[in-house]
Amino acid sequence: MAFHDPADLPPGDPTVLPADAVIAVDGPAGSGKSSTARALADRFGLLYIDTGAMYRALTQAALAAGIQPGDEAALAALLGPVNLELRPSRGETTVLWDGHDVSRSIRTPEVEAAVSRVSSHPEVRRLMVERQQALGRKGGVIMEGRDIGSVVFPLATAKIFLTATPEARARRRHLQFRERGVEVDPVALAAELADRDRQDSERATSPLVISPDAIVIDSSALSLEQQNDLCARACLVNPTLDAAIVNDPHSARVALPFQYRLAYGVMQTIARFYGLRVYGNRGLPVTPGCILAANHIALIDPILLGATFRRSRVFSLAKAELFQPAWPNGRFLRWLDSIPIRRKGYDRNAFGEAAAGLASGGNLLIFPEGTRQAIGHPGQVRSGLGILVQETRAPVLPMFLRGGYGRRCGGSLESPLEVWHGPLLRWHAVDDLLAQMDRRAVSERIGQLCRAAWCELQARSFANHPETPFEKELGQKQLRRFAARQAKLFGG
Ligand code: C5P
Repeated sequence: MAFHDPADLPPGDPTVLPADAVIAVDGPAGSGKSSTARALADRFGLLYIDTGAMYRALTQAALAAGIQPGDEAALAALLGPVNLELRPSRGETTVLWDGHDVSRSIRTPEVEAAVSRVSSHPEVRRLMVERQQALGRKGGVIMEGRDIGSVVFPLATAKIFLTATPEARARRRHLQFRERGVEVDPVALAAELADRDRQDSERATSPLVISPDAIVIDSSALSLEQQNDLCARACLVNPTLDAAIVNDPHSARVALPFQYRLAYGVMQTIARFYGLRVYGNRGLPVTPGCILAANHIALIDPILLGATFRRSRVFSLAKAELFQPAWPNGRFLRWLDSIPIRRKGYDRNAFGEAAAGLASGGNLLIFPEGTRQAIGHPGQVRSGLGILVQETRAPVLPMFLRGGYGRRCGGSLESPLEVWHGPLLRWHAVDDLLAQMDRRAVSERIGQLCRAAWCELQARSFANHPETPFEKELGQKQLRRFAARQAKLFGG
């Protein structure tokens, strides 16, 4: 649940924070994100990026040009070619719009009144998110906004969701205006904040949400120093847990049953034959007790993934049809710790068995989309992943697969054969979310994050080896065909 006091988290060792760390700070207006993000940038030597200033700059330019905040096409046309620069400086960021310093004019009540409407348009957000990702992709940044952890950097090293009561936030905003010499009516200010919160949270495209892996901090009763200290500790939680895994001598010495050694040997031979490349796992065994959540594109996927696990015992969920006939298929799959699952409805036995496997320190491999998807288009995640996470709280390792198809299988120029391991997603905010919404909605959030993680890994893969014409063409062809199969299997 939300943290209220620096003593709620251990101090942590700042040296565990990687040089390419990305820290996401999200939260409603007036929650203190800017002051804290700036302080943390100084403390950890990171580049501070204020994404709110980007939306404000566009709003200010639109108002000056007489463009209506509801005119999506005109706003996108205004933003597209512009050179929008953020220069970190002491105090507030210096913002340059085509070379003109607009740092002061973006912080007026007029801009505040229109900015949420301007930032609600999908095309405006797409253009902004592209710019933000380009600014932060190399890492070493702390970025604040509304959708940084959920959309811009779903694989951020640390995510903080900073919040405070509406009264505390209105009080702080009032003080900020006063310091800048602007007098505003406190009642109108509180109403404006409430309205902005509502618009930011209710918009259809990347609304203000708590990412299920964020650490939620309620700063209502904290001094700025306490708030900064607590947030600094939150930044170190995941890196500290990661460092403990790397240094755990036990994980390097897991005794594997005979069938695993055999299966891994076969899988690794196949993977080597086809030239599989693995990214992101730093040569480490996967963390015991975590869920391995992979996108599904081809029948060979489990074998390619298996080749990257090495020393861990991996349970897996597989469609019940594969276990027929019971001999030899069923027996063979059970021998390899596969658990049959019915794809329609909630299969209590399968989930129970999977949870027991995780509790015993094993891993669980699942394909949360439920069936194969068109290449280049990771699909919607079904509710199974969210249910498992809520029942077990097991961390999830997102894995992205590319290339297990093609006329010449694997490693070919038409489709590079790759497996990408993401960082572990840990479910710090699931209790906070359960206090606000029902279990189904929480599952949906978890699924959205998993899909965003695949999309980010896919973007990294494409940055390395651009999507080939073969992949583009096949993906387009598969899209319609696979959507029809999904509807037949799961309904709707
Ligand atoms: O953080 P700040 O108050 O400067 O943000 C101004 C507005 O910009 C927000 O109310 C929101 O409408 C928009 N914004 C956004 N997504 C972000 C950052 C800001 O929609 N990542």
